[in-house]
Amino acid sequence: MGEHEGPGCVFCAILRGEAEASIPYEDDRVMVIMDIGAVTPGHLLVIPRVHAVGLEDLDEETSTHVWRIGHRMGRALRRSGLRCEGVNVFLADGKAAFQEVFHFHLHVFPRFKGDAFRIEADWGTRERSLLDREAEAVRSGLAALEP
Ligand SMILES: [Zn+2]
Repeated sequence: MGEHEGPGCVFCAILRGEAEASIPYEDDRVMVIMDIGAVTPGHLLVIPRVHAVGLEDLDEETSTHVWRIGHRMGRALRRSGLRCEGVNVFLADGKAAFQEVFHFHLHVFPRFKGDAFRIEADWGTRERSLLDREAEAVRSGLAALEP
């Protein structure tokens, strides 16, 4: 249990065994549960056992393990017998990014022709000068990270 654990955190309740979940995999650092609000059958969530809200407060070691297991789960979906012609891996960090449960979780879900998942965006091509300026902004963001 993390020190920042919210009293109402549903994922912490699942991790403690106090709320129901379907669990295809778990180890000492993560638990994988089936998403009750599944985009497609097989939609799963990789959840660190430590309570962290998002990228800002999840340590990189734990994060690395979460993504490693997400990778493995995507491969497992391909072999699961569930309809799976492709896989999306999706992280929602923050309300503006559609995060709804404020305990870090990686979505991994099967995709197939004709499924209902949609991403709407303006996919316009950006000018090189803008990309260069944005790359510089990201470099300054990296420099601002604590060592
Ligand atoms: Zn939690």
